[in-house]
This record gives sequence, C-alpha cells and structure tokens, in this order.
Amino acid sequence: MTYSAPADAAKRKQAKPVICYTVDKLPAYDASLYDNARADMEKIDEVIVQPRDASTFRVAAGHLFRIVSIEGSQVGDLNLWNADDLNERFFSGKTRQLHASHVSSGDRLWSNLPGLRPMATITHDTLGWYGWDEDGAGVHDVIGTRCDPYTNHMLSGVDYHYCCHSNLTRALAAELGVSTAEAEPHVHDVLNVFMCTGFTLDTHQYFMKASPVRPGDFIEFFAEINLLGDLSACPGGNCGSSHSDDSTPCYPLLVEIFKPAENSLKAWQPFSRSGYSGTHGV
Ligand SMILES: [Zn+2]
Repeated sequence: MTYSAPADAAKRKQAKPVICYTVDKLPAYDASLYDNARADMEKIDEVIVQPRDASTFRVAAGHLFRIVSIEGSQVGDLNLWNADDLNERFFSGKTRQLHASHVSSGDRLWSNLPGLRPMATITHDTLGWYGWDEDGAGVHDVIGTRCDPYTNHMLSGVDYHYCCHSNLTRALAAELGVSTAEAEPHVHDVLNVFMCTGFTLDTHQYFMKASPVRPGDFIEFFAEINLLGDLSACPGGNCGSSHSDDSTPCYPLLVEIFKPAENSLKAWQPFSRSGYSGTHGV
C-alpha cells in the first residue's frame, strides 16, 4: 500500500526523540556493594541444563548466580519468579523500557506490576565487550518472547515439543509438583541469555544471528529477592540458523549459585515493592 504524505511530513518527522523514562531516577548501581559481595563468594550449588530442555534453580536473596556457556555456543531462555510468591515474576517489557533492548552489567531485571522492583542485578558479563554491531544487534535481549509450540504450529503446521516455552513449562511443573497445564500460565517472556538479536534496519523485523558466546563466557546476577529460576537451553543452539526443530547443534548450559562472604552485604538494602497506592483513582 502507498500513502500520500502530508505537505509537512518532513517537519513532523523532525520531532526530537525523547527518552521515555528519566532513568537517572532509577536506583543507582552501587559498584562497591556488588564488588564486595562477589569478591570472596563461595560456590554452593550448580545445575546443568541439558540441551533442548530446562531446569529450575533457587537463589536466596543476597546470593549470586551465573549462567555459564560450556561445551559450545548456546543461547538460554531465562524465567525468574519471586520464590515466595509466583505472582511476582520477571517483566521483560518494562526492563526493556527502563534499560534498553539488550541488558548487561549494572542493569536490573524488574518484576511485573504491582511489585515493579529489581528482582536481580547483573553484576558481571563477559560479553560486555560486544556492545552494538554493524547490524544494530546486541547480546542478552529483552525483545524476544521465547520460542513456543503455538507459533511454530501456526507457521509450520508441525507439533514440536522442545521449544523453550515447553521446556520451561515441564521444568516448572516438575519443580512445583503440578501438571504442565497448571504450570504453563506461570511461564512468561524471557531474558534471552547470550542471544544476539536486533531489528533489521530496513524493515525493522526482529532478527537473530549466531551468538558470540563461547565456552567459559558467563553472565552473573545478584539476587535482590528470593528467586526461583528456570532456564531453557534453546533448541536454536547459538540461534545462527533456525529454532523450534532438532536440526541445530545444541549444548548444555551451567547454572552456578554463589554465597557471598560473611559481612560483605552490610550496606545492602532489599528493594521494596512499588510504593504506588494501588487505588487507580477510585
Ligand atoms: Zn528458544
């Protein structure tokens, strides 16, 4: 379709972009606090996430966790809940609005409304060097949702059971001891760990390209509240070609849980839920 532009089209397009939120009002990243927490931390647990599958893990408030690339270049889809109240969960859309389309060290993973508080803070990212490439792509996106069998069925007509959505659902069901039907509504939009994505410059379509992650790379988080995590090793592998099928090499991912040294968190104050009254004008 073609549309005729109004006479003042060029002028209208010259309006200046305004950053939507005054991000300087966000709670500042206290580097000394987090550096202190991670300085002498001790590894207390680990979980291996098998390829085309997901695993859950728990992290106490004030502890840290890492998602580590092992064996091969692999993307992970991460869900996070408040371990004490599954109604509070990761809000990728607001995290994107408050930080950017891709997150790295110093950024927070925010919870949904009405909590709206940092659930976790990114304290280290070995892919922090990547920045933005010539295609406009970055790493660790909060744009994409998660590969799912419904979209796949719509586009290909095939039932595929190992999309991240299904992997996350099975793992959560096993964790909670409930059916997949009961677990599924808790699964939500993810942090696409290690995934390299962007929007095409001409048509602004969501694209992916082979992740730059290599074995040994990791992203590290500080748990601001008690967390239940669920991580899927995406069937797309490094997401350089396809997903939602068994054609791509896939590798496991490692989740490591760390406890900071005694007395290293004296300055740490847990974030409280949003102070909004919740009355919505009524
Ligand atoms: Zn996936």
